Amino acid sequence: MTIELPGLFDLQVNGFGGIDFNAPALTAEGIGGALSRMRATGVTRCLPTLITSSFERFAASARVLARMTDRAIAGIHMEGPYLSPEEGARGAHPREHVAPPSVDDFNRRQDAAGGRIVLVTLAPEVPGALPFIEHLVASGVRAAIGHTAATGQQIGDAVSAGATLATHLGNGCAQMLPRHPNAIWELLAADGVLASLIVDGHHLPPATVKAMVRAKGQNRTVLVTDAIAAAGCAPGRYAIGGVQCALGEDGRVSLPGTPYLAGSSLTLDRAIANAVRFTGLPIEDVIPMASTIPARYLGTATAGTVTADWDADTGELRVLGVHP
Ligand SMILES: [Zn+2]
Repeated sequence: MTIELPGLFDLQVNGFGGIDFNAPALTAEGIGGALSRMRATGVTRCLPTLITSSFERFAASARVLARMTDRAIAGIHMEGPYLSPEEGARGAHPREHVAPPSVDDFNRRQDAAGGRIVLVTLAPEVPGALPFIEHLVASGVRAAIGHTAATGQQIGDAVSAGATLATHLGNGCAQMLPRHPNAIWELLAADGVLASLIVDGHHLPPATVKAMVRAKGQNRTVLVTDAIAAAGCAPGRYAIGGVQCALGEDGRVSLPGTPYLAGSSLTLDRAIANAVRFTGLPIEDVIPMASTIPARYLGTATAGTVTADWDADTGELRVLGVHP
């Protein structure tokens, strides 16, 4: 069946098609190539995501991104460095560059980015995080909770301070949590908080996706890829920032020799198809999670339309064309 979708919108993408947005050698041509590869998967707008790194490394990528005039770039998602330093919660973010938030550091990064940072993921339990969230919100930047070892209470405090998104809920936290209260339940229950999910079949089991979407509600769920350069590429070794990772035959991207995932090779069209399979929802209820809901969250709009073939029997979504 041929269906028409709004242009897809990815709030979290670290790279695509062999291009790493976090690499020191990032160029405008490279970004353009990655955007056109993403476009073939239906994505017409996105937030290139810069992870924890030194100021110099961050600024080098941010400056190249800031100069891009392509409408596909809706802003920059800064994931770190204000994250939990703990194993597990930190995920693949390099520990030596994890730091507590500071308005001065953020302002330098925002200057390097030409003011285009629109979303910051941070851990609300690190010192200074709550006033920093208030500062972000007052300056029009969305605050997201992620890579955190926060208690339920600390999550509640962050939500009161103005945090409005749970970044890749169910990932970027300790392997073992108290059954309740814990950050996941708290974030699921917070009505003012949207949750982004990586629905690649590796980051969250199908039943978890189904239960999270039901608990959060369709209108508060966002599908993201968290893709790295390996997306759209063959299995092998890739990098995100200076961190080496491996794309397996099964599509899983991990830090070699550890149990930790390091982003994904997911594409947003596949995320939609997976979410339909995992939740049992009709595809028309899932499409907004990857298009209009993230756009509305940022106070902006989707761009263009996508024609796709949807096979409800096999659960396969194939992009046929993307129109301006
Ligand atoms: Zn992350």
